[in-house]
Amino acid sequence: MERQIRRAAVIGSGVMGASIAAHLANVGIPCLLLDMVPEQLTEDEKSKGLHLDSKEVRNRLAINAIKRLKKTKPAPLYDEDLASFITPGNIEDDLERIKEVDWVVEVIVENLAIKRQLLERIEKVWEQGIIVSSNTSGISINAMVEGRSAAFKEHFLGTHFFNPPRYMKLLEIIPGKQTRPEIIDVMNHFCEKKLGKGVVVAKDTPNFIANRIGAYSLHITLNEMLDKGYTVEEIDACTGPAIGRPKSATFRTLDLVGLDTFVHIANNMYEKLTDEEEKKVFKVPEILRKMVEKGWIGEKTGQGFYKKV
Ligand code: NAD
Repeated sequence: MERQIRRAAVIGSGVMGASIAAHLANVGIPCLLLDMVPEQLTEDEKSKGLHLDSKEVRNRLAINAIKRLKKTKPAPLYDEDLASFITPGNIEDDLERIKEVDWVVEVIVENLAIKRQLLERIEKVWEQGIIVSSNTSGISINAMVEGRSAAFKEHFLGTHFFNPPRYMKLLEIIPGKQTRPEIIDVMNHFCEKKLGKGVVVAKDTPNFIANRIGAYSLHITLNEMLDKGYTVEEIDACTGPAIGRPKSATFRTLDLVGLDTFVHIANNMYEKLTDEEEKKVFKVPEILRKMVEKGWIGEKTGQGFYKKV
């Protein structure tokens, strides 16, 4: 295979972006980790005399993500020293640096309009040959690149990692209508042989394969089982280790994924469906809306269905 992925850029340093960067570092692929520029100084930054234009502040989101990687359990990195493979940055100062890489993966908030804006910006600095993918959980790959050039579309596809990327074997590859077969082959080969993933090539249907099925079961649980008086602990006892799924009990998974992200995934599904009966299943349950409003969005804020102690 001629084309090789030797360097990468991950855009978005949240739950998934940071862990994908860590997994790349684990296999010796240097990568840029870019996020947005923070709008305000923290108290700590003020006390250090930093300014909004200080590099440390501008790169804060990615820098903090790398620090978190070293503390997270189970560890996203095979070894803490591997974090040196990840270079933090921000999209205002460093987006041009994607010219140095072979593959750019977009891992920002699950929102079509925001992803489209970012891809438009990426295309402005993109060069022929650089593969660009999205880690979307279920937004249409074709819709994301509407308005982009034919050449860009030929190099674009979905690469959907599962959480946590170090441990989850599954990876869905979702070609767009115009993705070149050669690009699909390169990513398939790289993800299987270099990243150790089990690749399934999915169609560009809402939420692809695994999340379509997974989200359905989560909605049944949230909409029906809690209403029937079952507790979070009882449901997790029946959906986790006791049935051979050591890390995937229902509510533990929701806390890990992030309730805000899950609401985006559910809304995406709800908007795409036309059958009223099917739509009902994917309506975001009231309990989730209330929890997100309160900021109880899971492990990233320390409080979801479970409280971090
Ligand atoms: P997150 O909320 O933890 O992180 C999103 C990050 O993107 C944040 O750091 C935010 O600052 C950054 N961001 C937002 N807009 C940006 C922009 N315009 N430019 C640069 N950075 C920007 O979200 P997440 O859970 O990591 O999810 C990211 C993507 O991965 C989503 O598409 C999501 O559906 C998908 N995904 C999530 C999971 C999961 O379990 N959380 C699993 C598989 C796929």
